[in-house]
Amino acid sequence: MSQDELKNLTIHEARKMLDSRKISSKELTNIFLERIQKVDQSTNAYITVTTEFALQQADIADEKIRIGEQKPLTGIPMQLKDNMSTAGIKTTCASKMLENYIPSYNCTVADRLFSEGAILLGKGNLDEFAMGSSTENSYYASTANPWDLKRVPGGSSGGPAAAVSADECLFSLGSDTGGSIRQPAAFCGVVGMKPTYGVVSRFGLIAFASSLDQIGPITKNVQDSAIVLNAISGYDPKDSTSIKNVSQDYISNLKSNISGMKLGVPKEYFPDGMEEGVKKSVFQAIEQFKKLGVEIKEVSLPHTDYALAVYYIIAPSEAAANLARYDGVKYGFSSKGDLEDIFDDIETTRQGGFGDEVKRRIMIGTYALSAGYYDAYYLKAQKIRTIIREEFNEVFKNVDALITPTSPTVAFKLGEVIDPLQMYLNDVFTQPANIAGLPSISIPCGISEGLPVGVQLMSSPMNDGVVLNLANAFEQSTDWHDLKPEIFI
Ligand code: GLN
Repeated sequence: MSQDELKNLTIHEARKMLDSRKISSKELTNIFLERIQKVDQSTNAYITVTTEFALQQADIADEKIRIGEQKPLTGIPMQLKDNMSTAGIKTTCASKMLENYIPSYNCTVADRLFSEGAILLGKGNLDEFAMGSSTENSYYASTANPWDLKRVPGGSSGGPAAAVSADECLFSLGSDTGGSIRQPAAFCGVVGMKPTYGVVSRFGLIAFASSLDQIGPITKNVQDSAIVLNAISGYDPKDSTSIKNVSQDYISNLKSNISGMKLGVPKEYFPDGMEEGVKKSVFQAIEQFKKLGVEIKEVSLPHTDYALAVYYIIAPSEAAANLARYDGVKYGFSSKGDLEDIFDDIETTRQGGFGDEVKRRIMIGTYALSAGYYDAYYLKAQKIRTIIREEFNEVFKNVDALITPTSPTVAFKLGEVIDPLQMYLNDVFTQPANIAGLPSISIPCGISEGLPVGVQLMSSPMNDGVVLNLANAFEQSTDWHDLKPEIFI
């Protein structure tokens, strides 16, 4: 196999080659490090590349394989989004505020992946503090979409999605507060899964909006997504919202026969004005599910229209509270004032350390939480959140899962969307799953204007396996996931 073919491997295929000693983890790691060298100047999918650490980890992995102690991810090169704490390795959140921040501990997902023997190639680019839909809000410049370098990769996990799409790693982890795994996965033609809230530990994930944030895999196919989810999911006493008894084996339960399952098509997710190419691809995907023996039902979720408003009250409110910790005193950027007035110092630190979008969120959140407005905004949003959740519960009494577009458009041009409100609209189809804590996946389902289209599947909480099964069956009966961005083939 040539170097070029090796970088195209899936985790599953790489595992077989590692176990049969056709390749060592060190060789595989070097292939990806070279690949990063070659293409990352075009994509900017990495903020930090951890060459030395990766090679050390590869040696340890090769030893584990030699003595037969390998696990599914031993020796597999990966990337982590740069809002996941890694001990001794810079974790910037794509912010000037954390430009020189080196955590002293690992987030739980990194701990779990390292103990399986996965290899860290580096940290992926994102919108500052995961706020955005295009990765243009990164302090370290924007990431480019490997399908068209003049276009955005989506966001906020634009680095992870672009890195997987351009074969700069075998898989990556993203975080998803309102769509940040699924929308970039759709824009870059890869698979992105947001698990049920609480299935994957958030310990050590730098918080954006704690009741919505969830970590999940970005991979080349659905089987790989299940492999990674197996490794990172499960109860963690360090995260008080972590769910006990998540002892699901997503791999052994992965089926390709989905005949007889029921899929709901919520009419509110196909509004007028949606891109024709996206609509067409999603309708084709629905037809494909019919061929696979799935019963399709039209359903209605009438409060969908309020989801965006609810999200943009709750997410900024939680962000304002979470980001209050960056004061220039404990860690991170400091304006190094004269300390005559601590409040002046905090103000200049926050003024200089945060970018515009982060400041916008802090202001919205602070306003929504302030004494005179709390009931009108925050409390009201929480009440509607409950209604949205209950509406999903009702619908899931009649269908196993829902099918919708992931995003109303394909990847847009860098610099094209400057109005924040227009940018917020990117996540109208993905945010409801965060509001209700549902498992949801985006998989490639077509091409429009030469760019990938993603279809989203959602199910009820703890039915991550249902979502994976449906996605897997669809993927096995189509070849959209095999398409690669031409410039990087
Ligand atoms: N685009 C959404 C936002 O800007 C979602 C971000 C995310 O999921 N992290 O808030």
